[in-house]
Amino acid sequence: MPATHEVANQVPPLAGHDVADDPALLAGLERAGASWAADELHELGRLAGTEQAQEWGRLVNENEPVLRTHDRYGHRIDEVEFHPYWHELMKVATAHGLHGTPWRDAREGAHAARAAKFYVWGQVEAGHSCPISMTYAAIPALRATPELAARYEPLLAATEYDFGLREPTSKRGLLAGMSMTEKQGGSDVRANTTTATPSASSSSSSDGSYTLVGHKWFTSAPMCDVFLTLAQAPGGLSCFLLPRVLPDGSRNPIRLQRLKDKLGNRSNASSEIEYDNAVGWLVGEEGRGVRTIIEMVNNTRLDCTLGSASGMRLGAVRAVHHATHRRAFGKALVDQPLMANVLADLVLESEAATTVAMRLAAAGDRRDDAQEQAFRRLGLAVSKYWVCKRAPVHAAEALECFGGNGYVEESGMPRLYREAPLSSIWEGSGNVAALDALRAMGRQPESVAAFFAEVEQAAGGDARLDDAVDRVRKELTDLEGIEFRARRLVEAMALVLQGSLLVRHGHPAVADAFCASRFGGDWGIAFGTLPAGVDTGAILERATVR
Ligand SMILES: Cc1cc2nc3c(=O)[nH]c(=O)nc-3n(C[C@H](O)[C@H](O)[C@H](O)COP(=O)(O)OP(=O)(O)OC[C@H]3O[C@@H](n4cnc5c(N)ncnc54)[C@H](O)[C@@H]3O)c2cc1C
Repeated sequence: MPATHEVANQVPPLAGHDVADDPALLAGLERAGASWAADELHELGRLAGTEQAQEWGRLVNENEPVLRTHDRYGHRIDEVEFHPYWHELMKVATAHGLHGTPWRDAREGAHAARAAKFYVWGQVEAGHSCPISMTYAAIPALRATPELAARYEPLLAATEYDFGLREPTSKRGLLAGMSMTEKQGGSDVRANTTTATPSASSSSSSDGSYTLVGHKWFTSAPMCDVFLTLAQAPGGLSCFLLPRVLPDGSRNPIRLQRLKDKLGNRSNASSEIEYDNAVGWLVGEEGRGVRTIIEMVNNTRLDCTLGSASGMRLGAVRAVHHATHRRAFGKALVDQPLMANVLADLVLESEAATTVAMRLAAAGDRRDDAQEQAFRRLGLAVSKYWVCKRAPVHAAEALECFGGNGYVEESGMPRLYREAPLSSIWEGSGNVAALDALRAMGRQPESVAAFFAEVEQAAGGDARLDDAVDRVRKELTDLEGIEFRARRLVEAMALVLQGSLLVRHGHPAVADAFCASRFGGDWGIAFGTLPAGVDTGAILERATVR
C-alpha cells in the first residue's frame, strides 16, 4: 500500500543537550566568584536536557496532585498525593542544594551558585520550584528566633528529600512553606484576620506556643513540614512557625479545605487551609510580623525573577531551535529576516533578564556589605516588577515561533505559556512590586544612591544608555503624581540597570541591540521590531543548541 505522505520538515526534539550551556548565566556565575560550581551546574544542565527529565516534567503536570481530606473511615488526614515523578524532581532539587543549602555554605558565591542551579533545573519543570524556593527563603526569616533556627535550619539545608508527615526533627530533611494571603486580601496582609492567642500552657510551662484560628486562601505546597504564617497576636500582626506535626507526634490541626484549580503550575498543589486551633511558635517579635516575614518574601522575589528569566531562556532556546530546523518559503525560518528579528529580540530580553537576576543573586552573597544590600533592596524591587512582567509576553511570542505546533501541548510551549504569569502575581503583583520600589526609594534613600552607583559604572560605554540614565534621574526629581507614574518609572529603572550590566559584561552585539532598541527610540511595541543594523547572527548564536 503506498503511504499517504512522507513526514517532512518536522523539527527534531530538543534533548540531549546541556541546559547550562548558557553564556549569560555562566558569565554571571563567574562574576559572582562561583565558578567552582560550574561542574555541578553542567551536570545538572545535562540532566535537565535529557528526554527522561523532560518526561518527568510533562507527566507531573498531566497527573496533578490529589487532595485526600479523609481516610476511608472518615478520619481527617489532610494529605496530598503526588505523581511519583514529582518526588524524583524534588530529590534532584534537594540533592543539589537548590533549597536551604547555601545558607550553611561559606564558599564565595554560594547563593549565586544556588541561583544558577535553580534557574537551570527550573527549566525542566517550574511547579516544584515553589516549595524549593520557599524553603530557601524561609531561613533568613527563621533566624529572627535563633532557637527555632537552631532546631530547623540544619534540616531545611540538608540535601535529603524525606517526604511524609512525621515530627520534623525526626526527619532527614525538611521543606518550608508560607501562608500569608487570606480571602479578604493578599497584597494588604495587614488586613489578615487569623488570630494567635498565647497558649494557656505558655505562661506555666513557657513553651511559648500560640493557638491560631482562622484561614489562609492560598498556601502552596501544603505538604511542606513547616510553614511561616501571619496572624494577629495581642501585640499586632506577627509571624509564626507552624509545623504540620507537633513535637508530641500529633497532627497540628491545619485543615486542607480545597486545592486550587489553577491556570498553570499544575504539578504543584496550592491549597486553601483553615487553622482549627493550630499550634504555632512566634518568629521575631509580636507586632513585627511583616518585618520578619519580609526576609522570606525578598528571597522568594529573587526566585520569581530567576524563575521568569529561566522560563524566558527556555522559550528563546526552543524558539531558535525550532526556527533553525523548520523551513518555509525555501529557507530555514531562522534565515528569514523577519523571524531573525523576532528571535533576536527574544534572546535579548532573555539575556537581560538572566544577567540582572544573577547580579541580584550575587548581591545576596554579600550580606555584610551595606552598599550591596542597599543596591539589592531597590534593584530587586524594580527587577521583580519588570522581569516577571516580561515573561508572559515573551512566552506568547516564543510559542508563536512554532506556528500551530506551539499551540499544541506536545510542544511543551502551552505549559510554559500558562506558567509565565505566575511570578508576576506571586509575592507582590505588578502594581505592588512597582509601589515597593517607590517605598524603597522613599524610606531608604541610600538604595537610590547604591542603584545609580551600580548603573553608572557603565557611564561612557554607550551614549544611548547614558541619556536614558539622565532621563530616569530627571523623572525621579518629579514627585508629582508619582504613584500614578510608578510603572513607567520602575520600568525605565529596570531597563537602565539591565542596559548597564549588558554594556559592561554582555556580548557586544547583545549590548548594542539592547541599547539601540530599549533606549535609542528605535523599537516598536511587539517583539521583532529591532532596528536595522543589529547583529542578529551573533545574538542568535547565544541561544543556539549545537
Ligand atoms: C499559584 C499561586 C500560588 C500562591 N501561593 C501562595 C502561598 O503559598 N502563600 C501565600 O501566602 N500566597 C500565595 N499566593 C497568593 C499571592 O501571593 C497573592 O495572590 C498575591 O499576593 C495578590 O494578592 P491577592 O490575590 O489578594 O490580590 P489583591 O491584593 O486583591 O490585588 C489585586 C490586584 O490589585 C493590585 N493592587 C493591590 N494593591 C494595590 C495598590 N495599592 N495600588 C494599585 N494596585 C494595587 C495588585 O497588584 C493586583 O493586581 C499564591 C497565588 C497564586 C496565584
